[in-house]
Amino acid sequence: MSVSVFRNYIAGEWVEGSSSVANVSPSDLSDVIGHYAQADAAQTKDAIAAAVNGQLEWQKSGLEQRYAVLMAIGDELIARKDELGRILAREEGKTLAEGAGEVYRSGQFFHYYAAEVLRQMGETADSVRPGVEIETRREPVGVVGIITPWNFPTATGAWKIAPALAFGNAVVWKPANQVPASAWALTEIISRQNLPAGTFNLVMGPGAEVGDVLINSRDINALTFTGSLETGRKVAGATAVNLVKCQLEMGSKNALVVLDDADLDNAVECAVGGAYGGTGQKCTASSRLIVTEGIHDRFVAAVIERMKKLVVGNPLKAGVHIGAVADARQMESNLKYLELAKNEGGKLVYGGEVITEDTEGYYMQPALFTETTNDMTINREEAFAPIACVIKVKDYAEALATLNDTNFGLTGGICTESLKYATDFKRNAKTGCVMVNLPTAGTDYHVPFGGRKDSSFGPREQGTYAKEFYTVVKTTYIRA
Ligand code: NAD
Repeated sequence: MSVSVFRNYIAGEWVEGSSSVANVSPSDLSDVIGHYAQADAAQTKDAIAAAVNGQLEWQKSGLEQRYAVLMAIGDELIARKDELGRILAREEGKTLAEGAGEVYRSGQFFHYYAAEVLRQMGETADSVRPGVEIETRREPVGVVGIITPWNFPTATGAWKIAPALAFGNAVVWKPANQVPASAWALTEIISRQNLPAGTFNLVMGPGAEVGDVLINSRDINALTFTGSLETGRKVAGATAVNLVKCQLEMGSKNALVVLDDADLDNAVECAVGGAYGGTGQKCTASSRLIVTEGIHDRFVAAVIERMKKLVVGNPLKAGVHIGAVADARQMESNLKYLELAKNEGGKLVYGGEVITEDTEGYYMQPALFTETTNDMTINREEAFAPIACVIKVKDYAEALATLNDTNFGLTGGICTESLKYATDFKRNAKTGCVMVNLPTAGTDYHVPFGGRKDSSFGPREQGTYAKEFYTVVKTTYIRA
């Protein structure tokens, strides 16, 4: 019996791939979510060509049509958050609550950009030449290539697709190959909207083939990428050669600072939620916990007590807080970093064990290390794992210097009751997002998101700032 395959979506049609892959759940290796088509280079080029044509039609669409399309997508995501959240949880390994929350948030991105459709204002100016007026307006950038990672399969797609469509662009989306089901489900919703054929295209497949065509295409006008630093560098190199606009959101090594005067209970919640939520597979996760001497021992003891209450297990079960690691490769990497931390002199004070569940999958107990220093590899490289390392420091000044001593700069957090330190931190943390008495992970959908140094490159994503990437500015001079 031949299996049915979920197909790619190109030029308004569902298209067979050149091959297919089985999408296996990391929390239950006997659970095959489906088989998904794999595009090849030729199909990816077809999708780009379709987008070039689709964009010419879509840019003529009225604002109310765009508003209605985006609202409808947002409405459906929100209405189906539990159903689609379950698919997401099955294929990525996060819990049902995290899956449903992500789909709900994705709906909010579409709603937010539906409103932005109606806020596309320009500017006027008088010319320095008498009798001449100037108008500055934004136009669609054109065809947008979107490449997304596996850890937020629906939300990352949503926060890029929604502004792309809102500002009149066409899209070619390549999701991570580990999570095609969420991408396919979102595409199926988009396929039923009032969009010209070719405006939205889905090409599932490997980065080395499908992604490579996208980043090297001269027919793509802007390429937005979220993923690892290593791949991000390739994207930047390839797009620069063709002078294609590019935006990169990459890895990080975020830190949470806990000062002596912090509210201990809140600091523990911030640390545990920020380090281990989503099984530590968040670009905003706080893998470094920088703690001043006076509170260090109490903080570590309280974090361990809190970690004992975390239920790790099959993410589809009620009451589970920490789901599965995303795949075999990630699990192998997590265990490698655990060993590395021990070999470097870190003291494993809690967790780190591989866990067996009723269903065969990739499970590990979140791990906490103490006695680590900021120069250890475990505190320099992004592990993307449920592993956090405590770095003991003397005072606030050393804490801030330690937080900034990294190649990355996405988020940084501080727990303190002191306005003086919170204010100084807010101004001097070299990160794109700063959290005061909040976890480093967890951001809103209506304000800019992004980082500094090796974490981000190019214009900011989200909020009104997204228009810098998704539009180009035209200046018109008029003599009546
Ligand atoms: P990855 O770089 O391996 O893959 C990301 C995407 O790039 C995938 O779709 C992949 O298929 C594609 N790709 C791979 N090789 C390619 C190539 N040669 N050309 C074009 N495309 C290619 O990253 P991942 O493992 O999927 O995701 C984890 C990483 O994503 C972590 O580093 C994490 O920090 C980062 N991330 C960052 C943010 C952020 O906003 N800063 C958000 C989520 C995840």
